[in-house]
Amino acid sequence: MYQIIDGKKISQEIKEELKEKVAVLKEQGKTICLAVIQVGNDPASSVYVGNKKKACAYIGIESQSYELPEETTQQELLELVQRLNADDKVNGILVQLPLPKQIDEGKVIQTIAPEKDVDGFHEKNVGALCVGSKGYVSCTPLGIIQLLKRSGVEIAGKNCVVIGRSNIVGKPMALLLLRENGTVTVCHSRTQNMKEITKQADILVVAVGKPKLIDDTYIKEGAVVIDVGIHRGADNKLCGDVDFEKAAPHTSAITPVPGGVGPMTIAMLMYNCVSSVSENPVP
Ligand code: NAP
Repeated sequence: MYQIIDGKKISQEIKEELKEKVAVLKEQGKTICLAVIQVGNDPASSVYVGNKKKACAYIGIESQSYELPEETTQQELLELVQRLNADDKVNGILVQLPLPKQIDEGKVIQTIAPEKDVDGFHEKNVGALCVGSKGYVSCTPLGIIQLLKRSGVEIAGKNCVVIGRSNIVGKPMALLLLRENGTVTVCHSRTQNMKEITKQADILVVAVGKPKLIDDTYIKEGAVVIDVGIHRGADNKLCGDVDFEKAAPHTSAITPVPGGVGPMTIAMLMYNCVSSVSENPVP
């Protein structure tokens, strides 16, 4: 029988721990403020931004909201980011992606002060992760490490395979698993004989962005499978990059979609915000 890794429950535990930590910090006169910028009104982005603001309110972090029109120029957005960089009251700056096409996302991300880049996307933070020094780490992979640790999954010495090499998920995931002493292989669209590689995985992280691509034929019996994908099917139901029905019986533990990785991303954003004023806010 396999274990379902409950991201809803674990993310709630983390939020409770952070809430307590924030209350203690407040007593010491330390407050935290996250500035959230949204350009345009993409409905999915509005839902994400709303959830992030709700999480801030829950754990006691102040949030400032900047809702800019779709036609905002790159210059206008950069000026806002620079103003927030210089504002001592703001600890974290989050620019909700994707941005409208007239704006260069990379330029915006690199303009956020690294010490306020709570998404962990700035080159300086990515570099810090690479060389093992202090910095913000991308929230989704950071959350996956928490899911594994809090579910009692040992990473050290295990064969870890990550499918996907995006800057937001795949690459930082590989670096984090390496930091935890896993033996890490990364697969991508040019990988040959991928099944041969994934079938060696004790821990398989799937961030491929293709609904139900990974089924039981990719999985070693008893592996731990983490599904990062989120897709809404024609039936309006959510599914992941893993075919849960086929894969789950062959795993020892697996994350569901929804209720697996998704809720962890916001919890770890909150973690990054709290760590702007306090080191290692949760175990
Ligand atoms: P992405 O930027 O599209 O990257 C997908 C990666 O998968 C790329 O590296 C690509 O390889 C690789 N790939 C594509 N097709 C492949 C195939 N057939 N075989 C092997 N590798 C293949 O996606 P992402 O931003 O990393 O996100 C991945 C998924 O996670 C998406 O479904 C996204 O919605 C979801 N997501 C969820 C959360 C959350 O909070 N739960 C957060 C972020 C993302 P190349 O590099 O060679 O093109």
